[in-house]
Amino acid sequence: MYKNKHELFEQVFQAILKSGENGVFQTEICKEFSLDSRDGSRLAGNLEKQSLISREKILNKGRWTYKLIVKKSAIAEYNRKPIQIDCVMGAPCFSCAYQHSCSSEDEASPYSPAKCVWLEEWIVGGFEKSYVKSEK
Ligand code: SF4
Repeated sequence: MYKNKHELFEQVFQAILKSGENGVFQTEICKEFSLDSRDGSRLAGNLEKQSLISREKILNKGRWTYKLIVKKSAIAEYNRKPIQIDCVMGAPCFSCAYQHSCSSEDEASPYSPAKCVWLEEWIVGGFEKSYVKSEK
């Protein structure tokens, strides 16, 4: 079992990684990690935003779901060194209520990382913290 969100994030990524090029249905991931579909979708969206996986909408047993497939670039990166999640700890996207409609590709979407004040505040806050640390 996982202790926190970041550990869950890592374990879900591992499960998708294990499924290889065939990928795994988002519904299977939800089942395996006891996530409701909203949390499962949010988590998969986060992995997709970080370019670790791709999501393909697919009809499975008469129901639409997503197939989660690890990106080749992420496999290469992962083999080179384990993914560091410390840098994304506390990112607002993990708990964002608008994540489902946030897109960096859909210009019509009112929510995107490029226009997001919450993301900007979090990044600026991170810079300020490391600047204060380096000043001491
Ligand atoms: S709206 Fe902002 S905080 Fe929410 S998912 Fe998009 S970038 Fe992240």
